[in-house]
Amino acid sequence: MRQKIYYIKLMKDKNMTPKDLVKNILAGQKTERKAVLNPVSSTTVVQMEIMDAFFPEAHFDAKKMFELSRANYEVLGYDAIMPIFSVVIEAFANGCEVDWGNPEMMPQIKGKLWKDYKDIEIKKNFLDNYAVKAVLDCISMLKSKYPEVAIIGKVFGPWTLSYDFFGVEDFLIKSIINPNEVKDILEKLSEITVRFAQAQIDAGADFMTVADHATKDLCSPLAYRDFLIPIHSMLVKEIEVPIMLHICGDTLDRIDYICQTGVSFFHFESKVEASKAVETCGGRTKLIGNINNPLTLLFKRPKDVRAQVFNAIKSGIDIIGPECAVPLTTPLENLIEIAIATKDFKNIH
Ligand SMILES: [Zn+2]
Repeated sequence: MRQKIYYIKLMKDKNMTPKDLVKNILAGQKTERKAVLNPVSSTTVVQMEIMDAFFPEAHFDAKKMFELSRANYEVLGYDAIMPIFSVVIEAFANGCEVDWGNPEMMPQIKGKLWKDYKDIEIKKNFLDNYAVKAVLDCISMLKSKYPEVAIIGKVFGPWTLSYDFFGVEDFLIKSIINPNEVKDILEKLSEITVRFAQAQIDAGADFMTVADHATKDLCSPLAYRDFLIPIHSMLVKEIEVPIMLHICGDTLDRIDYICQTGVSFFHFESKVEASKAVETCGGRTKLIGNINNPLTLLFKRPKDVRAQVFNAIKSGIDIIGPECAVPLTTPLENLIEIAIATKDFKNIH
């Protein structure tokens, strides 16, 4: 597979760096093309082979994380690099047990740590944990090697952290029977989100993914309004770089609320029709994503990816990319086609 390295950097724009492109899109300026990036993991087994950097080491070894993540730019041709592939770093650094998985399996948190608000004990020195340190060192390395590329950090919001620490079911039951305790939990766990984000910004992150899985199946629109508008609005104030909020699933019923928080970008799935997302958003928040993972990227051909990219661009999506963390077996040519099609669009239309 190694010989199959695609270097599409030759398609680099002459007049604008990838980072400036993303910044200009955020500023609402007219740009020559749309940007391409994924605020969550774009990595696959094939990229591990190409870069000779594999899971699980790439989750907690800065050099391996650096090697694998720079494939975002060097191999996929995206405008940004987001190096944190797993969803477990904050939980691990605060005491959760983790199965780090293997090249074909993402890490998972084993068991739950706390039962009630009073059990919460955020480790004062969790930023010294070796997996956290690997993230920070990797971001520093990316920043010095690729100053022209948008470097994106990633943290989890307190809704997702609550699943990690309390267990999904127990936490969701609490959200119904004891909403005041849940408000206290969210406020308290936000400290982890803010401190980890700040450390990544200090290391060089230009943008910050905040993934908070307030997905429709697990969080009603009213729960989003009551629990998360205040929390996400607070994160916008506390985190010093523009936030890329990621929420999976069908989020159309909460896009208006999400816009009210003031997040700069919203990364959303293809379960929401691109045109409907654009209409609801009304330009308040820049939209990222929308290319379907489980059907199109995983199983279809580059021509199908191309059709979805063109549809997303025509619908008014600001930044094109996979809708969520890509499955580890996603074909490389499909991920690359997102960049090729986005860069081709301006010449064809
Ligand atoms: Zn997702």
